Amino acid sequence: MRVVRTRAELRAALAAAPRPVGLVPTMGWLHAGHVSLVERARAESATVVVSIFVNPRQFGEAADFERYPRNEPRDLEACERAGVDLVFAPSVDEVYPPGFDTRVAVGAIAGPLEGAARPGHFDGVATVVAILFALVGAERAYFGLKDYQQVQVIRRMALDLALPTVVVPCETVREEDGLAMSSRNARLSPAGRAAAAVLRRALVAGGDAVRAGADDPAAVRALMLGILATEPLAMPDYVSVADPDTLDELETIAGRALLSLAVVIEGVRLIDNERVS
Ligand code: AMP
Repeated sequence: MRVVRTRAELRAALAAAPRPVGLVPTMGWLHAGHVSLVERARAESATVVVSIFVNPRQFGEAADFERYPRNEPRDLEACERAGVDLVFAPSVDEVYPPGFDTRVAVGAIAGPLEGAARPGHFDGVATVVAILFALVGAERAYFGLKDYQQVQVIRRMALDLALPTVVVPCETVREEDGLAMSSRNARLSPAGRAAAAVLRRALVAGGDAVRAGADDPAAVRALMLGILATEPLAMPDYVSVADPDTLDELETIAGRALLSLAVVIEGVRLIDNERVS
């Protein structure tokens, strides 16, 4: 496994790399969710590239960016074990060199949910992913459905900008109690970590209700909020029952829905979703 830190080294390392190339973009603090993306990439690619870059442009508050967990030596070990060929771990200046002055802004699909709660977030995501797609030129790139809206935003961007990399969505990997694995979970105390299981409980209850025929989004949201309310440490940011394609809030549910939520626990913002289709 090679580790490269500059755009030039990355391009040079990829010039002679066997195709197809699979890319897994990450912000590090790798866990089993990331590893599942790498394993999928490994199974479908001759060369697997993982990027590790905590992207300042997708954080609203500088403090959240600073607090994001980092441990490169451990991440490199995880990559090595998972059979990664090439790790791109650039500095902020390498990704955004002096004079950098471009922003990729995806439209309607980036508007609601995380886009509304975190202004500018998806511009930051789309911009860095566009750079990574351009630098790596991968046949496929792998993204987790835990970040459902992110997958839709990146798909839209890749389609609209005619980027040749195919976006491959991958299922969410969970802890035993159902909590979606996330680098942010590391910032929870044991009590906060136990409380965080309530996200999944709320989504499962909402999903079961929709599968059983519930057609009123307000009632399904109320059901999920009621379950979140049983956990005093959980502060809901939003609870949504949306169209899985447009992410617009539904007025009535006709069998398909994306249930999603954002909840703050001990100052840590956690998201998860459940798709019923
Ligand atoms: P991050 O490092 O949080 O930016 O995540 C990098 C990639 O891993 C993104 O495509 C995420 O959606 C994906 N990912 C994060 N957590 C999980 C998980 N629990 N299961 C599957 N994929 C995940």
